[in-house]
Amino acid sequence: MTAYRAARRHALKMLVGVAIGVVFIIAVDAWIGHSSIAFAIVIFGLFMANIGILGFNCPNCRSNLFFRGAIMLPWPNKTCSRCGTDLTKVAGPDA
Ligand SMILES: [Zn+2]
Repeated sequence: MTAYRAARRHALKMLVGVAIGVVFIIAVDAWIGHSSIAFAIVIFGLFMANIGILGFNCPNCRSNLFFRGAIMLPWPNKTCSRCGTDLTKVAGPDA
């Protein structure tokens, strides 16, 4: 497992999480009516799930794969934005 693949897997998991969250909010809205609690549960769940994003760092300079400078994107870098390491070729956190 390379750093990029591990990070991409996390990104996909988050996408699925967001999709489930949206469906959950719509379902609660349809069944019970508008609920800010359902919204809060989803936001909290996604926030907790996304904490793992902090573990996806460049093995060379520790720069996070999801950051381009100070901007965080939902998809990981293939090449480190700081040191230029090819992240599709280096071992990631699961390797
Ligand atoms: Zn780097």
